[in-house]
Amino acid sequence: MKNINCIKGTFDILPETSEIWREVESAVHDFMYVHGFGEIRTPAFEKTELFVRGIGDTTDIVNKEMYTWTDTDKAGTQLTLKPELTAPVVRSYIQHNLAGKNPIHRLYYIDSLFRRERPQKGRQRQFNQFGVEAIGSPFPEQDAEVISMAYQFFVSMGIEDLTVKINTIGSQDARQEYLKLLKEKLQPHAEELCETCQDRLHRNPLRLFDCKNPNCQALLDQYAPMISDNVSDEDSEHFETVLNLLDQLSIPYIHDKKMVRGLDYYTRTTFEITSTSLGAQDALCGGGRYDKLVETLGGKPTPAVGFAAGFERLLIALSSIKESEPEGINVYIVLLGEKAIPKGMVIADELRRTKGISVLVETLRRSMKAQMREANRSKAQYVIIIGEQEVESDLAQVKNMESGEQFDVALDQLAEYFSVDEDHHH
Ligand code: AMP
Repeated sequence: MKNINCIKGTFDILPETSEIWREVESAVHDFMYVHGFGEIRTPAFEKTELFVRGIGDTTDIVNKEMYTWTDTDKAGTQLTLKPELTAPVVRSYIQHNLAGKNPIHRLYYIDSLFRRERPQKGRQRQFNQFGVEAIGSPFPEQDAEVISMAYQFFVSMGIEDLTVKINTIGSQDARQEYLKLLKEKLQPHAEELCETCQDRLHRNPLRLFDCKNPNCQALLDQYAPMISDNVSDEDSEHFETVLNLLDQLSIPYIHDKKMVRGLDYYTRTTFEITSTSLGAQDALCGGGRYDKLVETLGGKPTPAVGFAAGFERLLIALSSIKESEPEGINVYIVLLGEKAIPKGMVIADELRRTKGISVLVETLRRSMKAQMREANRSKAQYVIIIGEQEVESDLAQVKNMESGEQFDVALDQLAEYFSVDEDHHH
């Protein structure tokens, strides 16, 4: 029979790699804690409508990347595996009337997302993100805090070759004027654009900037007016203040006038952090302000700003700077003979429960030699050997694997023995 493998673009995380995942996850939790952000977890799937309304129906995600199916309920509700988290977080914010509880909410998440993209290095169909959404403040200091958090997190992880790209795409009111202008300027060159961009030019010309085709990019360079030059005075002022605050926080950035980000809900600030260690898919995180989304999804007008960072991308960047060494076990219990089995299991249980030390106990009934080899492989600090003889005499042999020292300890004294010097065991 043919083996069943996981779907293209999805991955298993095995024990030797899950450790680094836990390390980074716990770094995220600690980081969010010191910033006063609270964790939010939302369901794996939502009504399709949430994403169509929230992300916009001219975006790549909604157009071609969502995993959508029809529910078996009477209405035949369309459901979608979440392809991003801002819309679900805002949905939750509105549903639970968080606005009525406090004027500001600082939320973060770590979660899996699903997009039917073409798989390649750093681009998967199920991938993980951590991110923040600060909902409630219209002021530039909130943008600056969010950008600074993204930057400082990567710095704290030891990633050095970071670039912060920032831009303003103005408020949605000014956007219509700009889009008209953009269309006007590019219409005469429409024939030269790629097919997707010809469509974008009609449906949502802002998306032209997302195109990776060098020819389209060259046309934009030559003919496109830049959105940040076409925003209102208030938008410009907001942007200047964000940049000022970043200067004071010593965060280096470049104003990238062509960076508009791939989602329709952004207003004013957009930003991205890239790392040269990542290759073609070089974005570690992206985010921006989205002052209209809460309203679009049915809530009271509420300004907000956030970012989402790719977990796998961060791990790729980390793998080039540090080797992760799997942790060893504290104690391996070698068992010889059937009578030793219950003794060993009881001791293992006691050591784990009362001393909190990690214990592996033999369950394959192997030879002494094979068990010692296993103890070495598990990087055990101590081995406890219990054979028929040890059961008779109520003594166990304890071997310190580092020093090679070996001594007898009474079976009922083992727990005691392992609490004498905590440093030895951790
Ligand atoms: P986005 O939600 O598209 O703004 O993406 C935010 C971040 O998530 C990106 O900067 C990447 O680090 C990461 N990311 C987005 N799409 C994928 C994907 N298909 N596979 C892996 N990481 C991704």
